[in-house]
Amino acid sequence: MGPLGVGQTADELAALDQKACDMCGITFFEFRNQGRLGCPHDYVHFEKELEPLIANIHGATTHTGRRPSRAAAAGLPEGTDELTGLIGLRRSMKDAIACEDYENAKEDRDAIRALEDRWLGPPPA
Ligand SMILES: [Zn+2]
Repeated sequence: MGPLGVGQTADELAALDQKACDMCGITFFEFRNQGRLGCPHDYVHFEKELEPLIANIHGATTHTGRRPSRAAAAGLPEGTDELTGLIGLRRSMKDAIACEDYENAKEDRDAIRALEDRWLGPPPA
């Protein structure tokens, strides 16, 4: 009779931390510490892991003020707010496309690109 799932959760977290991006090699652990991604592929790669966190963040508060960010309130690194925004936009874009709402899909896509540019810097010359 072991503890109720505690060990399993820790194992899962450890495994998750070691999950790395195929493109740039950044791990979820590094992301959690730095709050920054290595390449545009990362937020797709880690989307599944981040979705529950994002659900918590959105459930915790709807405020978008300048005081402790939603990400900080959830114990996530600074910069995660933008990541959650990015993932939210991706979902929104998918939904818009599914509804054939291409106007909104285009707006979402543009917002995603703007965020990606800011996160990852200008493309190499
Ligand atoms: Zn990457």
